[in-house]
Amino acid sequence: MQKTLSIIKPDAVKKGVIGKIIDRFESNGLRIAAAKKLKLSEEDAKNFYIVHKDRPFYGELVKFMTSGPVVVMVLEGENAVAKNRELMGATDPKKAENGTIRADFADSIDANAVHGSDSLENAAIEISFFFSNREIC
Ligand code: ATP
Ligand code: MG
Repeated sequence: MQKTLSIIKPDAVKKGVIGKIIDRFESNGLRIAAAKKLKLSEEDAKNFYIVHKDRPFYGELVKFMTSGPVVVMVLEGENAVAKNRELMGATDPKKAENGTIRADFADSIDANAVHGSDSLENAAIEISFFFSNREIC
């Protein structure tokens, strides 16, 4: 069993597809172990995406992630990290496989509907960024 962090990004929250995205997880063996809706501050977004601080899109990424509320979740299941990435599809929705969350709900490489931890190590760091142990059931 693994745990991973998922974020439903501001574009998908604005579109009203929170339920449809959660259904993808629950229908594919990922349990919602924790969930909350919140608006990231600029400081939150900068810290969360600190690994990208030298990339040309960092400023835009921070602006986008703070443009509206997000839903953050801990997903739990067998191979949860890889399974979540598989369900999400490629970063650029144009390259995402049919039937993936990004192919179905994302508009562009920056407004790409969801975030998912990219390794077990980062999953632990990202989960503790948003959740205390008592919030994870
Ligand atoms: P995420 O970390 O959000 O799950 P990812 O792991 O698929 O996405 P990363 O390479 O970690 O992709 O990039 C983080 C985010 O930065 C992407 O989700 C996307 O919103 C944005 N991003 C990545 N590459 C670009 C790009 N070339 N132009 C604009 N935005 C980008
Ligand atoms: Mg990433």
